[in-house]
Amino acid sequence: MEKICTQEEFDGKIKRVLISKEEIATAVQKAGKMISDSYDGKPILLVSILKGSFVFMADLCRAITVPCEIGFMSAKSYYSGTVSSGIVQINMDLDRDVSGYHVVIVEDIVDTGRTLNDVVKLLKARNPLSLRVVTLLDKPDRRVVDFTPDYSLFTIPDLFVIGYGLDYAELYRNLPYIAEASVE
Ligand code: 5GP
Repeated sequence: MEKICTQEEFDGKIKRVLISKEEIATAVQKAGKMISDSYDGKPILLVSILKGSFVFMADLCRAITVPCEIGFMSAKSYYSGTVSSGIVQINMDLDRDVSGYHVVIVEDIVDTGRTLNDVVKLLKARNPLSLRVVTLLDKPDRRVVDFTPDYSLFTIPDLFVIGYGLDYAELYRNLPYIAEASVE
């Protein structure tokens, strides 16, 4: 079925800018420095959880000054009620063994925490040298499982946000800033 979205409809869902592209750039540089400083001289694998983190990953990896490799994964967690099942469906898996690497998971947003809780369990079972989670955004008010990222660039209230990789109905990923969306 053809999806039609006029420019007016597209613009109409952008309620307000929450985090500007300048604020994002400053925070990404800081995160890149933190990663570069803590892993100097050790093999790093940045793992982007698709699709939402692709823009953040592209900027973050260029803010890292030490050698690092890049990997991509697409994952979806299954749960019933508020309980994470621990079952995570991998739609696309990493193309290498993580056991020789310090893994840094690069995520767009931690909301209920289910996805990362499950992805972390799955990757830890593959015995990386170490594993940390860096997220662009954290919505702690929405958490239903006990999960805390190691590093979060921005903590935001319980709002639905779009832009800088995050979508609404697969659109808005290309916005250079993060906005609150008008969605019912
Ligand atoms: P979880 O609930 O498992 O922590 O989050 C899973 C996924 O839900 C995130 O990686 C993200 O793709 C999506 N998500 C959660 N909150 C938002 C939001 O405010 N905006 C958008 N676009 N996606 C979100």
